Amino acid sequence: MPRTTRQELARTGQVSLDSEFFSPIPQGYQKGKTKYCFVVGTVMSGLGKGIFSSCLAKLLQDKGLKVAPIKLEGYLNIDSGTLNPYRHGEVFVLDDGMECDMDLGTYERMLDQDLSKANFATSGQIFSSVLHKERHGEYLGRDVQMIPHVTGEVKLRLRQLALDSNTDVVFVEIGGTVGDLENAYFIEAIRQMAYEEGPGSSCFVALTYIIEPPTLGEQKSKAAQLGIRQLMELGVQPDIIACRATHPVDEKARQKISMYSNVPMERVVSLPDSASIYMIPAMLREAGLDFEVIRLLHIEDRIDLGYERRAWGRWCDFTDRIGAATHTVTIAICGKYTAVRDSYASLIHALEHAGIWLGCNVKIEWVETSTITDKNLPSRLQAADGLIVPGGFGTRGAEGKIAALRFARTQGLPCLGICFGFQMAVVEFARNVCGLAGANSTEIDPNCQDPLIDLLPQQGQIDRLGGTMRLGGKDIELKANTMAWELFGRASSVRMRFRHRYEVHPRYIQVLEDNGLVFSGKAPGEQIMQILELPDHPFFMATQAHPCLTSRPMRPNPMFVGLVAAAMQRRYPDQGLPDPVTATQQLQKLWQVPAIR
Ligand code: GLN
Repeated sequence: MPRTTRQELARTGQVSLDSEFFSPIPQGYQKGKTKYCFVVGTVMSGLGKGIFSSCLAKLLQDKGLKVAPIKLEGYLNIDSGTLNPYRHGEVFVLDDGMECDMDLGTYERMLDQDLSKANFATSGQIFSSVLHKERHGEYLGRDVQMIPHVTGEVKLRLRQLALDSNTDVVFVEIGGTVGDLENAYFIEAIRQMAYEEGPGSSCFVALTYIIEPPTLGEQKSKAAQLGIRQLMELGVQPDIIACRATHPVDEKARQKISMYSNVPMERVVSLPDSASIYMIPAMLREAGLDFEVIRLLHIEDRIDLGYERRAWGRWCDFTDRIGAATHTVTIAICGKYTAVRDSYASLIHALEHAGIWLGCNVKIEWVETSTITDKNLPSRLQAADGLIVPGGFGTRGAEGKIAALRFARTQGLPCLGICFGFQMAVVEFARNVCGLAGANSTEIDPNCQDPLIDLLPQQGQIDRLGGTMRLGGKDIELKANTMAWELFGRASSVRMRFRHRYEVHPRYIQVLEDNGLVFSGKAPGEQIMQILELPDHPFFMATQAHPCLTSRPMRPNPMFVGLVAAAMQRRYPDQGLPDPVTATQQLQKLWQVPAIR
């Protein structure tokens, strides 16, 4: 679609430019219809702003309100696609193909809502849009400045999201901390926005951190006070202060913060560490934060308490299961970045979701594949009741993954291969069952004798890295009477998310199938293989997609339910536990919503 310039938008009346102070308003935008809740962090990053903001948004959503989150990131990358997961956590892929921060995963899971690129903005996007407009003469002869043009661009994004998503409340989370140079203009933009939208239109939440030096044995609030002072110096008066701490924050510390920041005590809340993020909505609800926000935004007349009773009851049925597990299994994750858990965040969540519904504690054992050999493999996987070979890039650890997949296939160990794991499962099968000793992926060995896994045709001409993979949500056509078809409720297709450059070379499909490999999912109308399984194995499934990205607490992805159920059967063989298909079918009734997506 050709890009619409702002001048064109102005000409057609879609953006108003009638102000001396540049502040474009999208056409059709009604002030006061959508309210804004701005969430910022002080003292330090990593306080869980995304978790907090998504839980608060969930409480409002449960009252029948329409909510939309947006994360504003200070970095200059256009998206998260080129970031190293080892440093920044996993790259989360949205249905429209946007590669974004892992916090978007938190929002999708908590709100059970598919997000899009409109919910994620980086400084890179903001600046490139401003520069594009400058080159097209859209600033009408003015010198282009951080204020008002860059801040104007931020406000335009927020209002456009409000308008397009037709929401009651937009939750705006600003990455990093107040005081970071790169996000100072975000804070200025939200300050202006609250002023322009008028009283009762916005509320500001500051997350802060209460230090507990072990040598003192008491909570100290000075750093928190200074952090909030810094925010106030930027012209933002917080309405709510959420005090993160290891333990519940005592009254004394809260009183000091309250006095220092002009925020009444009932809006200075304690937010201690929680064993499960799914318990945090209850924590915020008990503190009364949901109604504080509703009062601050004057939307008491928009909520539906009957709806909330039902939604909350359903949520509590789910959280009651947390910590009530009767069984425990160990799943080995054979990967490369195993030192940093954040690089597998969605995977960990997907296993947790499946475990909660099956009444099973899922212990994760991280297996670094670059040190795996055929010899040490049995001892490394000794405790495992199931195995996951997750997504990955490059050569390091690939042979170890192949060895682990061989072990799982030959030992009847339940196994799920994801993306790169799917590709390695194909290579392993080709080598050890089909007798193609030279089988490999051209990502690993460009000159291998049998390129079972090769570049997708459309990847051949690509000369840059960012945003060029096969990305986003795609339909998978399921083959009837297969395990995948059963797990997904006998649906003819299922939608999952993708992020890859390589695929199974169509030339080898026949030989793989002749030797017993079943491709149970394919791209509709294309020769792209997307799910495989082995019929004579308790559970051996792999997919080119990333099923973890669409697993939601109340609707776990059936592939993970299948894996954990099979692992439970293996660990407790005498208990008559249900097989993967039966277990999934039993749960699908409880989820009360289609198991798809
Ligand atoms: N490296 C593989 C590819 O590009 C797999 C990618 C992944 O696991 N996300 O196809």
